[in-house]
Amino acid sequence: EAPVTVQENFIFRSKFTDIEIHNSQPLHSYCFEKIDEFKDRPCLIDGSTDRIYTFAETHLLCRKSAAGLSALGIKQGDVIMLLLQNCPEFAFVFMASSMVGSAVTTANPFCTSHEIYKQFKASGAKIVVTQSSYIDKLRSEEFPTIGEELTVVTIDGAPEGCLGFSSLTDVDHDQIPDVVDFDPNDAVALPFSSGTTGLPKGVVLTHKSIITSIAQQVDGENPNLYIKPDDVVLCVLPLFHIFSLNSVLLCSLRAGAGVLLMKKFEINRLLELIPKHRVSIAAVVPPLVLALAKDPKVENYDLSSIRIVLSGAAPLGKDLQDALKRRVPQAIFGQGYGMTEAGPVLSMCPAFAKQPMPSKTGSCGAVVRNAELKIVDPETGISLRYNQSGEICIRGEEIMKGYLNDPEATSRTIDIDGWLHTGDIGYVDDGDEIFIVDRLKELIKFKGFQVPPAELEALLLGNPAVADAAVVPQQDDAAGEVPVAFVVRSQLNGLDLTEESVKEFIAKQVVFYKKLYKVYFVSAIPKSPSGKILRKDLRSRLAAQSSSS
Ligand code: AMP
Repeated sequence: EAPVTVQENFIFRSKFTDIEIHNSQPLHSYCFEKIDEFKDRPCLIDGSTDRIYTFAETHLLCRKSAAGLSALGIKQGDVIMLLLQNCPEFAFVFMASSMVGSAVTTANPFCTSHEIYKQFKASGAKIVVTQSSYIDKLRSEEFPTIGEELTVVTIDGAPEGCLGFSSLTDVDHDQIPDVVDFDPNDAVALPFSSGTTGLPKGVVLTHKSIITSIAQQVDGENPNLYIKPDDVVLCVLPLFHIFSLNSVLLCSLRAGAGVLLMKKFEINRLLELIPKHRVSIAAVVPPLVLALAKDPKVENYDLSSIRIVLSGAAPLGKDLQDALKRRVPQAIFGQGYGMTEAGPVLSMCPAFAKQPMPSKTGSCGAVVRNAELKIVDPETGISLRYNQSGEICIRGEEIMKGYLNDPEATSRTIDIDGWLHTGDIGYVDDGDEIFIVDRLKELIKFKGFQVPPAELEALLLGNPAVADAAVVPQQDDAAGEVPVAFVVRSQLNGLDLTEESVKEFIAKQVVFYKKLYKVYFVSAIPKSPSGKILRKDLRSRLAAQSSSS
């Protein structure tokens, strides 16, 4: 091998040949391209009611919802907020939004009213589609008044001021206005992510980027993620996260497979539904693997229909994978590696392909087709070759257009040559497989959920008894990582501050997975001369503490 030079741009490509991707059409046209072929097949299976919607029924309800949105005044360029658990209506409204040329921002219903409001405000959403049980979160003083300034559609009943779901679907479905001047670079989805640094931001995913990402997974003669029309894909991971929305729902629609929608992870119900609906592909996250691997009940159920277990969103350890593999021995296990900003899939296990290739345990798979991947030395910017760790960067038409209304954060993440910097540290081995070894970015991942430290730090600094604060991840067997805080007490009024009072102060303001696990009181937060928190120092301090205890 030639020595690496500063000028060198060593690029890794997919193990799969590139394909032609028709990504200049609207997302719904692409997903429903083969509707005539699939029309009588099961499309959406509601895990709460066992109701099955065929592709034809699903398509019709998407079209009706599009007409309904349009009748409510939703136009091209508008934003719709979905505040829903997994349910068929999520799919109807998401596709309907694509049909009318608007974008959907997907909110986590577990979030507090204030957290939801921040996303509502930043996204510029015109309307919210939700469930009755979440209405109170939209009734706080911050939100505009429901039924007056704010239109809210509820999928179950119609609480005061809200419209029922039938007000969307009772409309003549031929009344969908044409989207004039459709641009493939228009936003279709607006998930929120903190990215490599700072607070959550709207991630602009366009028709082109999402179509490209789906095609990279399920299109071509030899799809990397081979989903067949007779597959049933488990959709228990929340659809507000792009992994589930893209790799489960949208990929299945494209491939003609059924999607089993579960509102939440409930092990007894899951174990009943898997054999009942012959689930063949299980998209999971490591904590779910843990539950299935450890719960003794699993032994009493027939899981023989599962042929693929796809884990993503956080690292899956070998022991855990092996433990579940003993219970589902016929299945192929592997990981996908995604990042919301990357559209989201960067790599996928090559053993999931139609013509499978071997894959090593612990690998995140190989880079998807029609994309380029670089491993960059964070200090020098040099792109590295095989088996050398550096920051993973990706380039291709699947990546986000940018952060909503935030050119600065965008240019910190996507460089002038179009490379998206993930903030993940990893390497590519001789077999072209990607291994993630560390995280350069500050993000904490609790059970695959994002916990942006900047958000917790801002809240901590909002407490007058706190002079300074920093939040870093601590390794945790069950959750992967948990947030812990280092806090400097204010000399004026911080003397009474206790670990419990700090934890409680945060817990009141955040969704459950952002709660602090531990609070350490320190005299100063280590910082660089430019004022940046030296998170690595704090992380090593934690690691040293846990190894000595
Ligand atoms: P999100 O945008 O919420 O999907 O979070 C993206 C981040 O999750 C990535 O940048 C990684 O740090 C982490 N991640 C996703 N998939 C994996 C995986 N298979 N293994 C390890 N980390 C992962």
